[in-house]
Amino acid sequence: MRKINYRTEEEIELIRESSLLVGKTLAEVARNIKPGVTTLELDSIAEEFIRSYNAVPGFKGYNDFPGSLCTSVNEAVVHGVPTNEPLQDGDIVSVDCGVYKNGYWGDSAYTFAVGDIEDEVASLLKRTKESLNRAIEVAVAGNRIGDIGFAVQSYSESFGYGVVRELVGHGLGTDLHEAPEVPNYGRKGNGPLLKEGMVLAIEPMINLGGKSVRQKNDGWTIVTSDGKVSAHFEHDIVVRKGRAEVLSTFEYIEEVLKTNCIFRVINRMVQ
Ligand code: MG
Ligand code: MG
Repeated sequence: MRKINYRTEEEIELIRESSLLVGKTLAEVARNIKPGVTTLELDSIAEEFIRSYNAVPGFKGYNDFPGSLCTSVNEAVVHGVPTNEPLQDGDIVSVDCGVYKNGYWGDSAYTFAVGDIEDEVASLLKRTKESLNRAIEVAVAGNRIGDIGFAVQSYSESFGYGVVRELVGHGLGTDLHEAPEVPNYGRKGNGPLLKEGMVLAIEPMINLGGKSVRQKNDGWTIVTSDGKVSAHFEHDIVVRKGRAEVLSTFEYIEEVLKTNCIFRVINRMVQ
């Protein structure tokens, strides 16, 4: 088994810097998400933004991945390749972004609504994000990896959702994917012990339908087997005593979404 790294405060600050840049990049993406935009356009916006901070869009070229973002639309769960296909009103798109700067990674994801989405899909997004919050609540020193998975699984399955098994969260630091694996399912009190200084990317992938997934023949995109939509949210955290510290942020993203929402309401009123 690969060794788990415990990060110093100096290292944690560098991971925070990369993680915050991911949050700002995703906000830049959020500003541009609307029906008609292509995920390739979003990808180049993100790449340019990251490079303007003298950072590297780390996904690009990682295992030969072609994009700076993973853009996973509707039934795509994760690892979606940016394409020329325009997003449509009613779609959802998970945007996953990685930044490498000063030798340390940040990795965070958010699933966006494109225009107006169905109520049951909006609920899936809200609850997937809530499952991430519940996971973070139990990611404290003295608990175990299985407590994180249990928190996501028990909450998500209470709504009848499918919890993806094949893809998992991970340790994070000088490499994008470090030990330990962080599954979104599990049993309380099982798995590696959580200790102070462990940095984890926690990323629930929750399907509206069944848990089964398959890979598309593009060699990358993971889609649900039943074709129903899937949501994905990801934060980077550091394990502490009492309460985990979240190193990434959705604050910039949600500021943009709030503003977009106000504009949509005003537009509707004047039409
Ligand atoms: Mg990610
Ligand atoms: Mg990740």
